[in-house]
Amino acid sequence: MIDASTRLVGLIGYPVEHSASPAMHNAAFAALKMNWAYVALPVYPDHLREAVFGLRALGFAGANVTVPHKQDCMRHLDETSRAADLVGAVNTIVVRDGSTLYGDNTDAYGFIASLREEGFDPSETYCAVIGAGGAARAVTYALAEHGARMITLFNRSTGRAKRLCKDMARFFTAVRFEPHPLSDLGLVGNEYDLLVNTTSIGMWPGVDSSPWPDDLPIPAHLTVCDLVYNPRETRFLSQAGRAGAVTICGLGMLLHQGVAAFRLWTGRQPPLEVMRRALEGGFSK
Ligand code: NAP
Repeated sequence: MIDASTRLVGLIGYPVEHSASPAMHNAAFAALKMNWAYVALPVYPDHLREAVFGLRALGFAGANVTVPHKQDCMRHLDETSRAADLVGAVNTIVVRDGSTLYGDNTDAYGFIASLREEGFDPSETYCAVIGAGGAARAVTYALAEHGARMITLFNRSTGRAKRLCKDMARFFTAVRFEPHPLSDLGLVGNEYDLLVNTTSIGMWPGVDSSPWPDDLPIPAHLTVCDLVYNPRETRFLSQAGRAGAVTICGLGMLLHQGVAAFRLWTGRQPPLEVMRRALEGGFSK
């Protein structure tokens, strides 16, 4: 029950009403019998600064940040993590000691945790990433930080892929980064280990679309991951499954970024399976 001593965390974004995060975190608080609540906070871009400062003023323990505020919120924070700085985005704010606004990026952690959960170790691997937006930045940083040998980016706008490769190459000198247009996906051949879709192609309601052309075979030895989680089985993942590849859906990343955020706010070990069930209940197959 919410009462005078309930601790609050929230989700700052716009829109936020379709988010699965409140269900996931509130299920975890209930399972641990914690007097905490997670609320969705729709914030217009013009009000972002007031909203971030408001977390401190209103005694919130922290917040998640989602589209369109992940980059812009950084300028209102007191401290940011290395992951947030290198990705260039914050998805979790912690109000430390009731005063310091600290920003972290748990998307990168969530992505690696979701790969590891399915038995994929990114170290020494050759990775192909489709997309060069915000999610691609988190994925590329995460793969480089965890020892990938080569990361090839395929994006509709090659300029954006080039910028991302250049940004990452400054920090990860041992990793080879290559930008390509989407029309070069045929380069993903035998030497690759991992193929990741970080674009929004295939997301509901555009479920009949895929970033991968129908007439191009997907190598069967690949592990193929789609960050899209609604639907859980995207057209891209069914193409990969039919080709014989191991497939990983985006729900795992969503779960594990939430697990890491929960730990940052509460200092407690989150109930993983409770959170997974709460998420899975919110999405169709
Ligand atoms: P974003 O910054 O807007 O980037 C979108 C990317 O998709 C860009 O690379 C864009 O290419 C590409 N794209 C979009 N429509 C396209 C089309 N019709 N044809 C070709 N390319 C297209 O968005 P984001 O924040 O990276 O999010 C991307 C997806 O990742 C979303 O579906 C989001 O829900 C998902 N995501 C999932 C998780 C998770 O936990 N599973 C976490 C974060 C994000 P251009 O650069 O050429 O425009």
